[in-house]
Amino acid sequence: MMKQDLLQDQVAVVTGASSGIGAAIARRMAHAGAAVAVNYSRDVEGAQAVVGAIKKLDGEAIAIQADVSDEAQVKRMFEQSLKAFGTVDILVNNAGIQQDCALVDMTVAQWQRVIDVNLTGQFLCSREAVREFLRQGLRLEVSLAAGKIICISSVHQVIAWAGHVNYTASKGGIDMLMQSMAQELAPKKIRVNSIAPGAIKTHINRAAWQTPEAAARLLKLIPYGRIGVPEDVAKAAVWLACDDSDYITGATLYVDGGMTLYPAFSSGG
Ligand code: NAD
Repeated sequence: MMKQDLLQDQVAVVTGASSGIGAAIARRMAHAGAAVAVNYSRDVEGAQAVVGAIKKLDGEAIAIQADVSDEAQVKRMFEQSLKAFGTVDILVNNAGIQQDCALVDMTVAQWQRVIDVNLTGQFLCSREAVREFLRQGLRLEVSLAAGKIICISSVHQVIAWAGHVNYTASKGGIDMLMQSMAQELAPKKIRVNSIAPGAIKTHINRAAWQTPEAAARLLKLIPYGRIGVPEDVAKAAVWLACDDSDYITGATLYVDGGMTLYPAFSSGG
């Protein structure tokens, strides 16, 4: 892969970056020239492996522990990142969990934890990032925008999903959080967008692709005929973070191989 300079001299905070999509985004952003704060909640080895891979390619990165649902820990994460890199230009709100359960059996704890991490976590991290974007103001030598936020949502912000009401509610919430932040912050030259991944091969959904039978069932939902990989999302994230997408704010980019085209309707309906 040829090194690019799309994000040269910028600083990115990527949450939940010790595995899966977040790890790929952290690596790809570093490859595009950004210094990266690799956030993790418990998986210190995973975070250190991502930092090691970035440094091996002469990139800059540090691992920072924080639970994104905890206000004090989020504030500390940004303080640590600012201390290491001086500022923040890009936030990728990627950390997310599932705690699947039928509605009638779902506990308040299962409901609340998913909302806390997936939705409140994006609010808390965005608020800290925006405070820094506003403090720093425009730095035209690095970017046309004073800051960029990328919210990792899901196709389940629009596709209902039985047995996952906590997850779908959190992702639907991200859509309006993202759009309202985009509207509020555009006059300050801050861009806010979402990526809604379809089925991407990671730890979170391994049951859906691990066996050939499960993979075949999943592929019926994907017109483009392949299950996604974290790099598919990471490439889109770099584009949304760089000036090539400067006129785009408040948008959701579906990276889903056509899953939201509802392929069941390709015959009949
Ligand atoms: P993953 O489980 O590998 O990644 C989730 C990451 O979030 C992990 O690194 C985990 O440690 C971290 N995390 C969890 N709770 C945290 C907390 N409280 N604070 C900080 N970090 C925390 O799975 P993934 O597929 O890479 O998921 C990344 C994002 O992509 C999630 O928001 C997920 O909802 C979204 N997504 C994934 C898919 C898919 O098919 N894999 C599809 C749509 C959306």
